[in-house]
Amino acid sequence: MVKKRIILFTSLVLLFVLAGCANSKEGETDAAENKLQVVATYSIIYDIVQNIGGDRVEIHSLAPIGSNPHEYEPLPLDVQKTTDADAVFYNGLNLEEGNSWFENLMGTAGKAGDDAPVFRLSQGIEPMFLTTEGKEGEEDPHAWLDIQNGIKYAENAKDALIGIDPEHAEEYEKNAQDYIGELEALHEKAVERYSQIPEEQRIFVTSEGAFKYFSEAYDFTAEYIWEINQENQGTPQQITRILDLIEDREIQGLFLETSIDPRSMEMVSRETGRDIKGKVFTDSIGKPGEDGDTYLKMMEWNIDMIFEGLTD
Ligand SMILES: [Zn+2]
Repeated sequence: MVKKRIILFTSLVLLFVLAGCANSKEGETDAAENKLQVVATYSIIYDIVQNIGGDRVEIHSLAPIGSNPHEYEPLPLDVQKTTDADAVFYNGLNLEEGNSWFENLMGTAGKAGDDAPVFRLSQGIEPMFLTTEGKEGEEDPHAWLDIQNGIKYAENAKDALIGIDPEHAEEYEKNAQDYIGELEALHEKAVERYSQIPEEQRIFVTSEGAFKYFSEAYDFTAEYIWEINQENQGTPQQITRILDLIEDREIQGLFLETSIDPRSMEMVSRETGRDIKGKVFTDSIGKPGEDGDTYLKMMEWNIDMIFEGLTD
């Protein structure tokens, strides 16, 4: 009798386990099919949303990873992905709005209305403005180079994902908590390391003037050849201006951006006899498997590069 019961029990357990396997397999397929289809306008937004969405999202970056998002134009695949997307995430602050490709794409993709699932991750950030003559009043998009703003992007991404997929709110909350914890620690590291650079050395030049928000947050003066990638790059007037400035202010720190044509900065380096200290990440994370291939890693790279470049 006892033996029979054991056999019966064992068969039931076996049946249960088999059923469980079948279920979980089905569950996995479901999960893959049920992933939120998400579009991000460029790689930094792509990575931040990926960190909050985790396994629940499948993300397509419009401007390819490693490329300059200021010069992006939609391809047919991008229109398709945007049409199919459950949510679209963008930076705002004049990054995507430039030549109205964004507005046009949202219109074509049926995502133009007020209640369309299109989310601006810079929501709540105090904008800074361009200063070049004729461009005053235009917002500067590079808010993410201040990690405190990156935290804001992550919070906004979390709220948006919870809004469109409340069923998995707990998961998004948890991912956000972990990720924001890492960003906060990195911000602390940035403050601590940068404060070790003597004040008179806290000045540097990049090709594009992407470091406004950064400079305000970490107390630097950041100069540039041209102010924003949307304008002409490396004109004789721009080169003359920066050469004079480098001499006048005895600036030693020249840095090149990973997503920008190096030729103008190389010319500035030759003309001034100053070395380019290294590459920094501004408008894109690194390609997968390369240096700086996440927002956290690119910001950490910049902390080390700027510290070493300005203290060597
Ligand atoms: Zn830029």
